[in-house]
Amino acid sequence: MRKSNLIFIFLMLIIATSCDNEEAVSEQSSTEFSSMQDGLITLKSGAIVEKKGDDFYYQSDMLLSQKQLETLNEHGDFIIEEPDQIENETEIHPVYNIPVEANEDGPAVPRAFGLYPTPYNMWAMVRFVYAPNLTADRKNIIQQALQHWEANTNVRFYNATGQPTVDPVYGFEYPYIEFVNATGNSSAVGRIGGRQKIRIAAWQATSVAIHEIGHAIGLRHEQSRYDRDNSININLSNVHPDNRHNFNKYTSNYFAVGSIDYNSVMMYDSDAFAINPAIPVMTKKSDGSTWNGGNVLSNPDRSWANNIYIPYIARSDTYRELAPVVYKPDNTVMTPSERLALQAQLNNGNPNPPNCCRLPNNF
Ligand SMILES: [Zn+2]
Repeated sequence: MRKSNLIFIFLMLIIATSCDNEEAVSEQSSTEFSSMQDGLITLKSGAIVEKKGDDFYYQSDMLLSQKQLETLNEHGDFIIEEPDQIENETEIHPVYNIPVEANEDGPAVPRAFGLYPTPYNMWAMVRFVYAPNLTADRKNIIQQALQHWEANTNVRFYNATGQPTVDPVYGFEYPYIEFVNATGNSSAVGRIGGRQKIRIAAWQATSVAIHEIGHAIGLRHEQSRYDRDNSININLSNVHPDNRHNFNKYTSNYFAVGSIDYNSVMMYDSDAFAINPAIPVMTKKSDGSTWNGGNVLSNPDRSWANNIYIPYIARSDTYRELAPVVYKPDNTVMTPSERLALQAQLNNGNPNPPNCCRLPNNF
């Protein structure tokens, strides 16, 4: 195994084993925001959020934690851990900060666009529960979406429905997703600590659940990539002023390699938010054509996740057992010997899991 892979795995271990570090929210700042009226709010930084009741949303469906809201207010982005070397180095690995290797497609394949991974915003396994009143229609598409993510990426989910949400020994709240009924669709971006909801409206397509889970994994909107102006034109005159914030760009703390991905499940359709649906809002600079965003994970979406995640099997002990299929960052599958070598690397040289301790984990 190459040294770069070892560094990658070491850093993934840090991510996998670190615990949450959310700061307590001050009463004062909490009150400052909660007393505002519902609707669009321009923050001190110029960023625009939408308040609906007690919740604050970024670009329509990204639900902000209190800490993220405060960070967005101060800094214009909802994460403040500034990674080194990222501003002009778009072809570096998200974890070990060295250039991404060339492959047969060239030095940089297009990839979907997401949070810069840190020990505080990525998951080891994605713990989730179904809300007690979750209706069968939502549960059905959520199950399909979870299975789609698992079949195509290294992301793994652990169904903790009915289990404690607070650690019985140490008293901290586990980070976990709760899938709930709602009238709209939304999710927090990345792992924010404690409970975070994914809201799903009735009778959605599975693609909507794949998209919202994508936010929780750490993906943002593809059309808001920092470099999208190289590839697409946006006709804001066909967008109501209250909706134009959906086309703001992210300028920091991103992980993306290569050019824009029109087939990403995180990419909006060309006519998104159009006042006149006969006129596209977004067109390709290359030829003026339009697109429909993806309904399933694109290869770049998969690659984004496969760069960052490792597929664990749920166990009650501390052995890190890998799923039978482990994807490499280029979406090819590890050979059995590569998989065993990685499993040994994750377990102090021991490639053989104890013959016990697998947890039931049915969706
Ligand atoms: Zn979204």
